[in-house]
Amino acid sequence: MTTLSAIEENYLKYILQLGEMQNGNVKTNDLAYKLEHSAASVTDMLKRLADKNLVVYKKYYGVSLTKSGLKIAVKILRKHRLWETFLAKKLKFTWDKIHVIAEQLEHVQSDELIDKMDEFLGFPKFDPHGDPIPDKHGNISLPNVVSLADAKMKKQYTLQNVNDDSAAFLKYLNKIQLQLNDKIKIIDKEEFDETIQITINDKKQLTISKDAAKNLFVKSI
Ligand SMILES: [Zn+2]
Repeated sequence: MTTLSAIEENYLKYILQLGEMQNGNVKTNDLAYKLEHSAASVTDMLKRLADKNLVVYKKYYGVSLTKSGLKIAVKILRKHRLWETFLAKKLKFTWDKIHVIAEQLEHVQSDELIDKMDEFLGFPKFDPHGDPIPDKHGNISLPNVVSLADAKMKKQYTLQNVNDDSAAFLKYLNKIQLQLNDKIKIIDKEEFDETIQITINDKKQLTISKDAAKNLFVKSI
C-alpha cells in the first residue's frame, strides 16, 4: 500500500474517534468542524480516501471506515497514545503538553520503532489521559465509561479518562487537583444549567460546569 499523507491519516483517525460515538458513521459536517476544513474540501478528501478503499462515503449519509481504513486508524491511535505515554513517563512532560507533540510523532512510519517503544514502556494499557492503547495486533480494551455529565447522582465512580484535545482543560484539572482514578460522587445537580456538585475521594467538594463534566469520563464502581 502506498504511504498516506499526515492529513489523510488524520482523517482516518478522526473518523474513528467521532464514529465511536455515532455507531461508526460520521457526518461530513462534524468532520469539517473537527478538522476546521471547509465542507467542500472534506468531501474532496473523502472521495480520495474512498478511491483508496479506506472509507465508504455516501453523500448526505456520511462516512465510515472500511476494514483497511480501520486498521490504519487504530495504528495511528496506538502510535499517538504510546508517544504520549513515552513523553509523560520518560521525558516528564506534563499531561497538558503531550497531545500536541504526539500529533506530530504519530505520523512516524516505522512499526519497529513503535513496537520497541511499546516493549520499552512495559506494554501500557492506557495513556496518561486514560485512553486505551491498542496492542500491536490492533486489539483495544474499551473501558465501560460514561461522561460525568451523564452519570447518575449519589453513585460512586472513578475518573477513567479525560478529553485530551484542550491543554487549557487539562491545566484546569491540574488547578482543581482532579486526577485519574479519583473517586467521584455527584451530590447535587443544578436544574438551571446542569452545573454539578461532586465529592472527590469522599472528602473534597467541587463545583463542575456542564462543559467540564462532558469532557470527564467515569466508570462506576
Ligand atoms: Zn492525545
